[in-house]
Amino acid sequence: MLNLVLFGPPGAGKGTQSEKLIAHYRLVHLSTGDLLRSEIREGTELGLRAKMLMDQGILVPDEVVIGMIENKLKEHQSAAGFIFDGFPRTVPQAEALDLLLAQYNTAITVMVALVVDEEELTKRLLIRGQSSGRPDDQNEELIRRRVQEYNNKTAPVAGYYESQDKYKAINGIGEIEEIFKSICEQIEAA
Ligand code: AMP
Repeated sequence: MLNLVLFGPPGAGKGTQSEKLIAHYRLVHLSTGDLLRSEIREGTELGLRAKMLMDQGILVPDEVVIGMIENKLKEHQSAAGFIFDGFPRTVPQAEALDLLLAQYNTAITVMVALVVDEEELTKRLLIRGQSSGRPDDQNEELIRRRVQEYNNKTAPVAGYYESQDKYKAINGIGEIEEIFKSICEQIEAA
């Protein structure tokens, strides 16, 4: 099984690269941001609670996203592998993911981190906000708060995978195809 964590701050290009990776490796895509937005669209209790935090650029509680991932792993037991996009975002989420995957006798193969500086991220997210309709992409202050959440709570997740010798950083600025090639090289080497 190939289980990839695609890592990086909001706007690093995780969604774009995920699409290409899914097509190439036939993986199941698990994006906690997408799962939460679908809960919001369906107007569920979970969605309503999550929306209040997402609208402020704050992470939703670990147990909420871990529960969603647990359900999805159960649903896709015959998958060739998974691409985790926007998850894990805290060290407790990373620990929980290891335990969940162990139940299926599998593990994370590699974490690929897309490195992009904050000025470029803000620029990209504001442009995305014009077409995505995502309220959290349309306000510069909110974007900065999300990047701050990333630096405080999510960046330490890189160290978690580094200690397992699974962390690979690549430059997330450049041509989409070139970045895709670099990610594939890291996957093949893992
Ligand atoms: P994203 O689409 O990945 O940028 O996520 C949008 C928002 O959903 C984030 O700003 C968080 O509020 C929430 N979110 C998504 N994934 C997670 C996660 N793994 N842990 C906590 N909050 C999350």
